[in-house]
Amino acid sequence: MRKKAIVVGAGIVGLAVTRALSEQGVDVTVIERSEKAVGASIRNFGMVWPIGQPSGKMYNRAVRSRDIWKELADQAGIWYDPCGSMHLAYHADEWQVLQELKFLFSQENRPTFLWSADMIADRFPTIQTKGLKGGLFSKDELIVDPRKAIHALPDFFSEQYHIKFLWKSTVTDLKTNSVKVNGQWMDTDMVWVCSGADFETLFPDLFSMLAITKCKLQMMRFMPASATPRIGTAVCGGLSLAHYQSFKAASSLKELHQRFESEMKPYIAPAMHVMVSQNQLGELTIGDSHEYGHSFDPFDQSSINQLILDYLATFMHCENWKLVETWNGIYAKMTDNSTEIFLSPEKDVFILNGLGGAGMTLSFGLAEQVVAKVLENEIIIK
Ligand SMILES: Cc1cc2nc3c(=O)[nH]c(=O)nc-3n(C[C@H](O)[C@H](O)[C@H](O)COP(=O)(O)OP(=O)(O)OC[C@H]3O[C@@H](n4cnc5c(N)ncnc54)[C@H](O)[C@@H]3O)c2cc1C
Repeated sequence: MRKKAIVVGAGIVGLAVTRALSEQGVDVTVIERSEKAVGASIRNFGMVWPIGQPSGKMYNRAVRSRDIWKELADQAGIWYDPCGSMHLAYHADEWQVLQELKFLFSQENRPTFLWSADMIADRFPTIQTKGLKGGLFSKDELIVDPRKAIHALPDFFSEQYHIKFLWKSTVTDLKTNSVKVNGQWMDTDMVWVCSGADFETLFPDLFSMLAITKCKLQMMRFMPASATPRIGTAVCGGLSLAHYQSFKAASSLKELHQRFESEMKPYIAPAMHVMVSQNQLGELTIGDSHEYGHSFDPFDQSSINQLILDYLATFMHCENWKLVETWNGIYAKMTDNSTEIFLSPEKDVFILNGLGGAGMTLSFGLAEQVVAKVLENEIIIK
């Protein structure tokens, strides 16, 4: 008899768990309270971003996830761009950090390259070359269009694995082998809860004890002037060097932080850095800021968006870009430096959450690992 599982939530984490279970021969029903997923997973840059992960387990997980993204996208006809990423340096201390990172990443065989300002100007004309010292190009990164991809995957999964999706269906209670959805109890062998930033509704007591919080990010989308070519890669300014875990390996990052704290005060709280990704329509997704807490002002601050745009103009020629849309997104994030939370509050009930700003990058690889462990009975978690 094939095992049955219910997955709560059709964001990237729920979809990744669904894929991993199906690959192992489990019959999956996904229950999603919205008509289609509208949470963090469609609000992001679509950056599948190994460069941000420390070498070893996390980098390997990100690379595995990226390979799964490619495989699924090829099969399902979902657009993606394996365009890599470029981190830019306009200050000597940023250039120093990039050189240290290149040295460290090369030792781990990560495909990174230091580019001169001339090489960058030649290859990526939208990048601002005034004062540019150089950049670190990485071949690993992949861009997907989250709105399209997260909505296309359920159709593909239904076809490929005969997975059932129950949309507009809210799980209000659950226990071992059973889930209450829209007032009716449904039987199952396993329940996987992937409810993203709404972690408190189903398990209020449990989550009140965990080192988890939420993060609100402000984002914008622009259409470049018609004459502007594709930007060619995903681009980050120097502030991003203070953002990702993998960059902490650089010994001079501390001094860079100190300069940011004294010269870039408005960007420090709410922690801002500026990244750009481009979708298949040519639109540019720009962000972001990071506000932490359990509830947020629902209204976005134009001053934050202005700071993001001011910084953007220091590294991109964005003069004729037309604003298309603005929005915010909220994700769940661990506060104790854990990379996710995976636990089993009851027999055969599993919670996977708290991937922070790396859910698009890590979910497929992580889900494969945790599902394999559960099915092999390697894991007894409480
Ligand atoms: C602005 C922004 C930019 C980001 N950029 C990137 C990026 O470029 N690269 C990257 O790797 N990561 C990025 N991230 C992080 C990434 O988007 C998140 O880690 C990831 O989307 C979290 O996925 P999730 O499935 O846990 O949550 P969600 O996508 O929020 O999905 C949870 C789903 O569960 C459903 N749900 C909740 N409770 C119930 C219930 N009781 N019954 C039924 N359904 C329920 C919700 O409706 C929702 O659809 C970004 C995040 C944001 C917000």
